[in-house]
Amino acid sequence: MNELWNEILKQLSVALSETAVSTWFTECEFVAFEDDNLVICAGSEFRKDVIEKRFAATICGIASSLLAGDIKLTVLSDAEEAQAYLGRKQFNGDSEFARMKDFTFTNFVLGEENRWACGISRKVSEEPGNGLYNPVFIYSGSGLGKTHLLYAIGQAIKEKYPDKNIVFAKGDDFLNRMIQAIREGEGKKFRDEFRTADVLLIDDIHVLAGKRATQEEFFNTFNAVYEAGHQIVVTCDRPPKELSDLEERLRTRFESGILCEISRPGLQLRKDIVAFKAAQAGLELSETDVDFIAGRLTCNVRQLEGAIKNLVAYQGIMGKISGEALIRTVENMCQTEDRRITPELVLKETARYYSVTVDDIKSNSRVQKYVKARKMAMYVLREKLGMTFEDIGTLCGNRDHATVINNFKQVFNNKSTAEVREALNVIYMNIGDKP
Ligand code: ADP
Ligand code: MG
Repeated sequence: MNELWNEILKQLSVALSETAVSTWFTECEFVAFEDDNLVICAGSEFRKDVIEKRFAATICGIASSLLAGDIKLTVLSDAEEAQAYLGRKQFNGDSEFARMKDFTFTNFVLGEENRWACGISRKVSEEPGNGLYNPVFIYSGSGLGKTHLLYAIGQAIKEKYPDKNIVFAKGDDFLNRMIQAIREGEGKKFRDEFRTADVLLIDDIHVLAGKRATQEEFFNTFNAVYEAGHQIVVTCDRPPKELSDLEERLRTRFESGILCEISRPGLQLRKDIVAFKAAQAGLELSETDVDFIAGRLTCNVRQLEGAIKNLVAYQGIMGKISGEALIRTVENMCQTEDRRITPELVLKETARYYSVTVDDIKSNSRVQKYVKARKMAMYVLREKLGMTFEDIGTLCGNRDHATVINNFKQVFNNKSTAEVREALNVIYMNIGDKP
């Protein structure tokens, strides 16, 4: 990482909200600094757009004052562009594979809850495209290892078959890139990129539900790859039959493949995971400690990891973890666990994002920011909790369901705008539903 970029990031986090920094800059990489030109890689076309439009001036300002010169900024969209920019020099940035490196089969702790999903994933990696295991549909709640397995598959295939074209995308990347490609008349390039995949790995496919145009494109891509006998693995937060807004033919395709559910880890698996992650992080825990952590934190693996990370940090600073510190850390994490996503939480966090109150959302006032918050709340209630339009209407100040549908559609149709995306990112994060 480059010093200059590090310093700019530091100053940016003073100038902007923490959320803005984490939304737009965590995946940003330094590429080069030449002739008063700072070159960074945004990680996606969409982020590049936002950074150029909204933050370029601030970044240039900071850079110019740091270097006492007139600094220009060039934003590249992805690792490929960064590599092209650098020519023969290696771009050692955050390539897809660099990001994946800890998510291997070796680092995946097995239990009854995930044995089938992991077994199939291994089979697929040994013989991608073998008709027996195609397509593979892995589903589970959040934080249970879907992305981990998908990355493990990608890496294992890359190692065994270095020449295979492995195409990896998150559902919303697929969405954003498609919209962008169509807007710029580059539909063909987009299609070719996905359709020439030997192995197509798509994470979080549920974001495509309800998005007609994208589904159509995805269906065509899916068919092209599948009919060429190439491997497809997708992950999703629910089984195909519950993807109510998914086109029938797409759902049928998934159902005809291999379905793998990962269930929430039971006590034994949680203990194994805690022990494994602690050992890996050089954290000394007694058996009683492991039992305590695994006994209290029952939600998902991400949470167990969070506890280990906190304890590692604590050990790093204090030298040794006292019994009391252990209990406090774990109890703190439990409180977050109790914060299940409820309609009230959605209203509260949406209101907070727009700096209004829950009562404003429920009121009849047409003040613009109340209206915005109201529409957004309706959208999130539908998307995240799957509430009926009637129930949403009742909750949001006794409105009829046609009004709710109307509002829902308005947010839906604007989903690719920076404003709505940022709002959704923040609200989802604050209701504890990390993407
Ligand atoms: P999902 O995609 O299902 O939301 P992730 O794959 O991102 O979940 O998993 C969340 C975190 O938990 C990741 O850091 C992952 O490495 C870890 N994890 C999940 N399951 C396991 C497991 N069985 N063994 C080790 N780590 C796991
Ligand atoms: Mg995931």
